[in-house]
Amino acid sequence: MLSDLRLKELIDLIIQGELNKFYKSKEWQALRQKALKRDKHECQRCKRLGRVTTANTDQPRDHKRKGSLHVHHLKEVKTHPHLALTLDNLETLCRTCHNVVHDRLADHMSKKKKRFMNEERW
Ligand SMILES: [Zn+2]
Repeated sequence: MLSDLRLKELIDLIIQGELNKFYKSKEWQALRQKALKRDKHECQRCKRLGRVTTANTDQPRDHKRKGSLHVHHLKEVKTHPHLALTLDNLETLCRTCHNVVHDRLADHMSKKKKRFMNEERW
């Protein structure tokens, strides 16, 4: 969990658009490893779909780069910074699933925003 001080630092990073610093932090790297271990280095979305995908079986399209696993925040860091270092908020995903999840999220957000803007009355 984040102390109040660390949470403030994290929010500052979000505001400054420097979340990459968070992803480089020792705390995140350590928790990321915990999440991977908990999920047995398998993509959890693929698992729900009855597939087993690990860093070794994930085949990127260009075949030059190795497959990789991502640790995804179920509730985004930007909107839920206090959950950034909470293991229960993390899920191991393969690169493909991570892209799908983020596309959906972006789609959902833009629709929501549009509707919100239409309903707005000044
Ligand atoms: Zn997957």
